[in-house]
Amino acid sequence: MREKPVITIDGPAGAGKSTISRLLAERLSYLYLDTGALYRAVAYHLIQKDYSGNNEELADLCRNIRVELNDRAGRLHVFVNSEDVTMKIRTEEIGLLASRISAIPMVREVLLSVQRDMAAAGGVVAEGRDMGTVVFPDAEIKFFLDATVRERAGRRYRELSERGEKASLRDVESDILIRDRQDRERSVAPLVAAADAVHIDSTDQTISQVVDIMMGVINKTGNAQMRTEKCP
Ligand code: C5P
Repeated sequence: MREKPVITIDGPAGAGKSTISRLLAERLSYLYLDTGALYRAVAYHLIQKDYSGNNEELADLCRNIRVELNDRAGRLHVFVNSEDVTMKIRTEEIGLLASRISAIPMVREVLLSVQRDMAAAGGVVAEGRDMGTVVFPDAEIKFFLDATVRERAGRRYRELSERGEKASLRDVESDILIRDRQDRERSVAPLVAAADAVHIDSTDQTISQVVDIMMGVINKTGNAQMRTEKCP
């Protein structure tokens, strides 16, 4: 029995999961578990090792990879075999490769125990694609966060522009559509809302409005059994 609940937030790229999960974790003084960062870290490692797409090579790389998330001064750092890759994994290229390799069961297997170990004591906001369905099916509180493709692409585009990265809105939207398809249509752990998740559409909501809605649900339910409810 966990002392504190596990809260899961699943949803497609650009729905606002990362920012919202981080803020929610801060408000609750919980650990923020960014599982996309783990898949990105594996993708980064494969690029570094010139991975050719060969299965045996992948098995070998997976056997010898150690991926870790550590909280350093309130910021989550991602390590691959002790190398801090926190900043290096935030590119569109790595995001697309992460989406491709995350469909491979061997890769998901390697990361399953990392995720479960980090949430063993509870008190975690876990964000990803299969948190409420596969990794933490017994989570006390589950959310599914979505927004229109146009809105998600616009957000991602602004984020990249602010970081000084060149990209066209059309390319960003097309990358999001590719990732959506890959994530929703894969046979292992596809992106799908858990049956007992609370759905929130963030299209016309500010970040703090979404966090407030979530806090409302958390406060209302505590650790009690969740029921599915559609937010406007
Ligand atoms: O969330 P983020 O964009 O960082 O995730 C990168 C990719 O990692 C996603 O497109 C998805 O394919 C994969 N992923 C996953 N399962 C998770 C988290 C991320 O398959 N729990």
